[in-house]
Amino acid sequence: MAQKNAPDLMERIVSLCKRRGFVFQSSDIYGGFSSCYDYGPLGVELKRNVKDAWWRSMVVGRDDIVGLDSAIIQHPDVWKSSGHLAGFHDLMVDCKECKGRFRHDHLEDENVCPNCGAQGSFTEPRAFNLMFKTFAGPVEDTAHTVFLRPETAQGIFTNFLNVVNSSRVKPPFGIAQIGKSFRNEITPGNFVFRTREFEQMEMEFFIPPDEGDKWYDYWIQERFDWYVKFGVRPDKLRKRAHDDDELAHYSTGCTDVEYEFPFGWSELEGIAKRGCFDLTQHGEGSGKDLSFFDEATKTRYIPHVVEPAAGCDRAAMTFLVDAYEEEAIPNEKTGKDDIRTVLRFHPSIAPVTVAVFPLVKKEGMPDRAREISAALQDVGLRTFYDEKGAIGRRYRRQDEVGTPWCVTIDGDTLSDGTVTVRDRDTMQQERVSADEIAANLKQRVADWKRT
Ligand code: ATP
Repeated sequence: MAQKNAPDLMERIVSLCKRRGFVFQSSDIYGGFSSCYDYGPLGVELKRNVKDAWWRSMVVGRDDIVGLDSAIIQHPDVWKSSGHLAGFHDLMVDCKECKGRFRHDHLEDENVCPNCGAQGSFTEPRAFNLMFKTFAGPVEDTAHTVFLRPETAQGIFTNFLNVVNSSRVKPPFGIAQIGKSFRNEITPGNFVFRTREFEQMEMEFFIPPDEGDKWYDYWIQERFDWYVKFGVRPDKLRKRAHDDDELAHYSTGCTDVEYEFPFGWSELEGIAKRGCFDLTQHGEGSGKDLSFFDEATKTRYIPHVVEPAAGCDRAAMTFLVDAYEEEAIPNEKTGKDDIRTVLRFHPSIAPVTVAVFPLVKKEGMPDRAREISAALQDVGLRTFYDEKGAIGRRYRRQDEVGTPWCVTIDGDTLSDGTVTVRDRDTMQQERVSADEIAANLKQRVADWKRT
């Protein structure tokens, strides 16, 4: 009895996130700070796993992409050249009746306020620059104005020359970066879907000018497949090509990977064909030559760019929402169904891979459980140790946070050297030799398929 589309699904997920330590409202003890969130002990593991999965797919597992970690605060001219100073704005409108504030491009009906229903109550659209402004040093004047980056991409373009000169790369090649970005969003919302401080996972792929279409198609498919590989159900994902009037003036194509959230289809990631706009702009702005000389063909050109730009928080939220299930389990004692809440995370995404339980807190079981836990940590599995409460309840607590396997140490472990492995998805239990448990679980991680 999955209840995936119940209207209050998001509320139940948000409540689970708080109750179990995935995501907290920021500054909670001060009454909270709107649309800012903190990741708790499980959330930070989830997000780290998302970033690791991305980095392994984009950088570690390939020969043609290198990594970078550039500064959040950069030379103000970077934003002049990139066009963000003049053009990185959203149009906003206010409702004169209820004082609600909306993004113009998000309005379904340009005449009726979605908040109070008033007709013709909107102000004229006004441009609102999304960059956060602050000052470097003690003097608060225009000469010292700096910006918090609204995307990680520009730090990649400004390091293009440094990377080419230091890293023996040549087009087609990419530079990848994960880091915080900041946008003074007019209407943040939908939990961590749209916030003012967020993390991005971006990669700029530099290519010869005539290879744009080929790499654009390639990266759209690669990025779609990445979500599926890590357990997201393909029927909840789609690719949406932008209409011409949605494209930035320099862009000749953009396709979003979208997910069907409880609040509708929404963008997870955009894959854009950016032409040679960025390197040309920074070449002109800095006076440096950002062209590439191809030794093989003896030609010089400004590389074109295909960019997959993903949001780390949106990806983490997608894995959470997609994994969430409530299912009815018949209870023989009461004759009624119990509701089991389970997060069916891919083992590489789950915050904890294996929970280790001594059946009871005596007869040497806790000591043996600690030894087994240490052995599992040694092979790189993220463990969680718990010795309190009824075993059935301990299993259910792990289901609710998406731990794929629980290992229980009982009386037999001490006599015959076996442990119980309990599977989150099937709820089946099996006895496995304690000596083989690490290898057994590693194999289960490799073999896991969403049921
Ligand atoms: P939107 O149209 O939703 O405002 P965008 O098209 O401006 O997003 P991009 O500039 O393409 O977004 O940013 C790349 C990715 O960064 C997005 O697909 C999203 O996953 C993430 N992202 C952008 N803005 C935010 C935000 N305010 N909060 C969380 N993630 C964000």
